Amino acid sequence: MRRGTIRAEYDASLRARRFQPSARSSQNSETPMSMNVIVLGAGITGVTTAWFLHRAGFRVTVIERQDTAAQETSFANGGQISVSHPEPWATPSAPFIALRWLGRAGAPLKLRPRLDAAQWQWMAAFLRECLPNRCRRNTAAIAQLAVHSLAELRRLKEEADIADTYDAQARGILHLFFDATEFERAQTRIAPLASFGIELRPCAAGQCADIESALAACAPQLAGGLYAPNDESGDSMRFSQALAERLAADGVRFHYGTHVERLHSADGWRVTGVDVRHPKGSGTLSADAIVICLGSHGRRLLRPLGERLPTYPLKGYSITAPVHDIAHAPQVSLTDESRRIVCSRLGERLRIAGTAELNGYHPEIDPARIAALLEWAETRLPNAIDPQQAIPWAGLRPATPSGLPLIGRGKHYENLWLNTGHGPLGWTLACGSASLLAALMRGEKPAVDFPVLGR
Ligand SMILES: Cc1cc2nc3c(=O)[nH]c(=O)nc-3n(C[C@H](O)[C@H](O)[C@H](O)COP(=O)(O)OP(=O)(O)OC[C@H]3O[C@@H](n4cnc5c(N)ncnc54)[C@H](O)[C@@H]3O)c2cc1C
Repeated sequence: MRRGTIRAEYDASLRARRFQPSARSSQNSETPMSMNVIVLGAGITGVTTAWFLHRAGFRVTVIERQDTAAQETSFANGGQISVSHPEPWATPSAPFIALRWLGRAGAPLKLRPRLDAAQWQWMAAFLRECLPNRCRRNTAAIAQLAVHSLAELRRLKEEADIADTYDAQARGILHLFFDATEFERAQTRIAPLASFGIELRPCAAGQCADIESALAACAPQLAGGLYAPNDESGDSMRFSQALAERLAADGVRFHYGTHVERLHSADGWRVTGVDVRHPKGSGTLSADAIVICLGSHGRRLLRPLGERLPTYPLKGYSITAPVHDIAHAPQVSLTDESRRIVCSRLGERLRIAGTAELNGYHPEIDPARIAALLEWAETRLPNAIDPQQAIPWAGLRPATPSGLPLIGRGKHYENLWLNTGHGPLGWTLACGSASLLAALMRGEKPAVDFPVLGR
């Protein structure tokens, strides 16, 4: 493809039109049907955004640098739709947890300080968000979005007819505590979460093994559990790919292998061009609206435009292995609260994921972190998997200090929208966030009381 080919193709259909509504106005003067939207990024947030915008009547094109959907952070996450765990990482106890685990390989939260101003700014903001009142406010916002998101996910999978495509399980999540004090403290969550409609049932160790028989081996060490019967799990990569295929069949255009290099504005109040590179050529795209769903990479791309996203990559790890001994491989999704390790059954596979490492944009896999996940599997679920067959993976969570995703209009440009920064809960919050964004872009009031941007 020659330089300009993409431009010619797009400019015919994606003519830049004046995007009418200001951040303060309530109704779009153009109908969604006449509006072209480019979604940048085809991870779980990009694909679900494309779905809700398409359903709302926008003409949607998705740009993705990988050859298919969900090849980066949405590729091998913990698989949990964890409505029952809306607490952000920034809690009053987070700094103490980080200190307690300092220097230990299996630390749930690890800092690797760098000569990077963004990292230090992020850490300072994170510490501010650990204050009790901020943590309470952030938890409440995430809880409401998560409840909405699960309802939207359930509707979406039926409407899109993809319920059977992503190893979905609707058997709840069992939160495990191996420390009696932690278990006692955790029970104070039950009442506040119930006020958002989130059910958590306290269980003694024996009851945990009744809910999930694979826990029989570790039940003697368990202090207890909190069972969230309405939570779900599933493979976010398979979900994203099935949904992208469905959308493509419905006329949404996906341009894979297309790298977004730069966004620019000719007039200072709209994004008027998106420079893209494809192995066959390069070009500049334009549209009525641009939505940023670029995971951890949106921050660096938007910076030259003066849009400062408060996100920083928080690396996490997972292993995925075929089930070895079916009697020891859980069907109910598990969260080990002390180690912040989660485990989900994905069909004939088991996914074990966890840990957060503040280490810049470095996707390399640290063998010590994988060893910690394998050790967890061996002690908590002996024989469930064959460690030799475990596939290691690392991904960069696009994390905001508060844990709140960035949903809504950017600060400086009328036609720039954000749906990013979902940190450790992108799979859980994807459908709710995308439906909120679609409502905002139609000029409607969002269905959930959430601090969206630009209002
Ligand atoms: C170990 C681990 C476990 C997790 N477990 C869970 C869990 O159990 N439950 C849960 O809810 N969440 C979980 N998460 C979080 C969740 O995976 C993320 O929040 C989510 O995947 C983020 O999705 P995204 O679409 O924002 O980012 P991504 O999936 O990274 O998508 C961004 C897309 O943008 C594309 N892109 C980036 N830059 C460019 C460019 N310049 N040009 C073109 N394309 C570009 C990328 O290729 C990518 O496809 C976990 C994360 C990790 C790391």
